[in-house]
Amino acid sequence: MLNEIYKEYGEYFYVPMTQGYSIAIPITVGCSWNKCLYCDLNQGNKYRFLGLEEIDRRLKILKDYYSNRHRTVKKVVMAGGNPLCLDTNILIEIIKLIRYYFPHVDNISGFARANDILRKSKDELLRLKALGVGELSIGIESGNNEVLAFHNKGVTREDNYLALTRLEQCNISYSTYIMLGLGGRKLSKKHAIDTAKFLSEFNPDVIIVVTLVLFKNAKLVEKVRKKEFIRLRPLESLKEEKLLIENLNLKNTIFNGTHKTNALILKGRLPQQKDILLDKIHRELEEYNNDDMKDKEVLKWKRWSVE
Ligand code: SF4
Repeated sequence: MLNEIYKEYGEYFYVPMTQGYSIAIPITVGCSWNKCLYCDLNQGNKYRFLGLEEIDRRLKILKDYYSNRHRTVKKVVMAGGNPLCLDTNILIEIIKLIRYYFPHVDNISGFARANDILRKSKDELLRLKALGVGELSIGIESGNNEVLAFHNKGVTREDNYLALTRLEQCNISYSTYIMLGLGGRKLSKKHAIDTAKFLSEFNPDVIIVVTLVLFKNAKLVEKVRKKEFIRLRPLESLKEEKLLIENLNLKNTIFNGTHKTNALILKGRLPQQKDILLDKIHRELEEYNNDDMKDKEVLKWKRWSVE
C-alpha cells in the first residue's frame, strides 16, 4: 500500500538521519540543484513538486493507513531532496494539509539547502516555525570553499554560515551533514580542519558524519578515472575523522558517525565524550592496515564503484 505513496523515491529513499521515526510525506521529488559531483541520490529523477492535489491524495492514504494501526502521528518529515526550496506560501498550504490530516503533529522537518533558507526572509522562517517546522537538515559537507567549489555544491562556506545563523535567529533546530573524504587526498587536512572550525562557530544539535562513496552515475566517477580526484582509503578517512574531532570545539552536540558509509561506527556527545571517540578511532587505526580496510570496504560497497 505504501509503495504507491513513495513510488518515485526509488532505491535510496533518503530522509534525514535524525528523522528515522518520522512519517515521510511526499512533497517534492529530486533536488532543485542536482549538480553536486558526488551525488546520485536522486537516481536521475528530475526535480518536481508533486502539487497540492496529489499531496492531499497521498496524505489521505497515509492517514487511513496509520489510523488503521492506531498510531498517532506526531512527527513528519517532508520528503524530497530539498522541499524547503518551495515558495513559503505553498509550504504553508502543505503544512495546513498535513495538520488537517494529522492534527497531533508537533514537528515538521526536512532537508534544505543553504540557499533555500537564504531565499526566505526571517519573517517567512518564523511563520514556518510557528506552524511547526521545528528542525531542518542541512548538507554543509565541508567548511572549505575549495572543496565545496570542486564538487559544484552551489553554495559557499559563507552561504552556509548565513543560513545557519538565520536558523538560530529563528530558533529552528538543525542537524548538519558533513562528508568525510570530500577533499580527496589533496585537501583532506584542510577539509577536516576547516569543517571543524566552521562547525565550532555554531551549536548544532546533531552533526551527522557520512563518508564519500562513489555512486556509479555520479559525475565524480569521471574525475576519479582521470585521477583528478584521489579518493581516501578507509584508513585515511578515519585519520581525517580523527583530525576533525580533535579540532571540534562544541558546547553540546551529538556527533553521529553511525552512517553505514563510515569505516567506523561512532557516536557520542561533544565535548563530553571527545576522548572516548578519539580512543575508539585510535584503537581502530592500530588494529587494521590499509589492505584490510580496503577489503572491508569492497565487501560493504560491492555494488558501488571503487577504483
Ligand atoms: S544538494 Fe544534496 S541532493 Fe542536491 S545534488 Fe547536492 S548532494 Fe545531491
